[in-house]
Amino acid sequence: MTARPIDGKAVAAVVRERVRVDVAAYREEAGRVPTLATVIVGNDPASEIYIRNKHRACEEVGMRSVHHGLAAATSEAELLELVAALGEDDEVDGILVQLPVPEQIDPDAIVGALDPGKDVDGLTPLNAGLLAHGTPGLVPCTPAGVMELLRHEGVELEGAEAVVVGRSKLVGVPVARLLLAANATVTVCHSRTADLAAVCRRADVLVAAVGVPRLLGADVVKPGAVVIDVGMNRAEDGLCGDVDFEAAATVAAAITPVPGGVGPMTIAMLLVNTLRAARARSAFA
Ligand code: NAP
Repeated sequence: MTARPIDGKAVAAVVRERVRVDVAAYREEAGRVPTLATVIVGNDPASEIYIRNKHRACEEVGMRSVHHGLAAATSEAELLELVAALGEDDEVDGILVQLPVPEQIDPDAIVGALDPGKDVDGLTPLNAGLLAHGTPGLVPCTPAGVMELLRHEGVELEGAEAVVVGRSKLVGVPVARLLLAANATVTVCHSRTADLAAVCRRADVLVAAVGVPRLLGADVVKPGAVVIDVGMNRAEDGLCGDVDFEAAATVAAAITPVPGGVGPMTIAMLLVNTLRAARARSAFA
């Protein structure tokens, strides 16, 4: 079998176009433009590229974005002050503090201080709690993107065996919660899972969010499974996922490539979240 590649770029383009139309409608109704504020502390080149791409994506759908670049030596108190000011700024709908932050800053303290209504990364305890509770507020972008890909591919989740490899707050856990909400039977694996291959082989839907280049090969994929590779790893031969694409594609029914799979969905869902945050704030204004 040769798996059907799942084209994240194409699905992301559909989502972005939907947001562009909805932003125009919001502008008509509200008389303002949804606005995303981004913050970087220091000058990590990868973070700067991510942020630049996010600003470009905002511009393309007619949203405003503002950026705050802070020196690498910025203290936690200074960053908390900026986060509080953005929380109170009526013109700002979404706040994104690019992680990682330098070591003198506790990322949990920063995330915990974000206004949950502007938390477009969906990482605050309130938004994580709402997701766990089954009444989602703002959902983390990458997990939301995974679900959008599965929906777009018409993957039947009800009653399916879903296995998520990885249990981070950013990806693994929220993906698992969303799959559960879609009535899949969900297993979450991690570094202490005793027999990773045996568990993965049960999966009708296998989601990899590990951060280990090509960890999962053909031997862990059930024939006919749908494989979603969230991994984004720099290997000697370039960017690669957590799944050995060539090998897994001989067994799976459908699979996301890296790059061009989940990655483009993350930014598209950030736009969705920013518009959603703007609408919710307008509704309560
Ligand atoms: P993370 O916080 O480092 O979490 C990795 C998870 O994988 C942990 O739960 C860890 O288990 C588990 N793990 C590590 N080695 C394992 C092994 N050998 N077997 C089974 N489980 C193992 O990473 P993350 O933030 O979730 O990101 C995961 C990957 O997704 C990375 O490659 C990252 O770059 C990528 N990513 C991509 C996007 C995108 O837009 N495409 C967005 C976010 C992240 P323990 O909990 O036991 O340590």
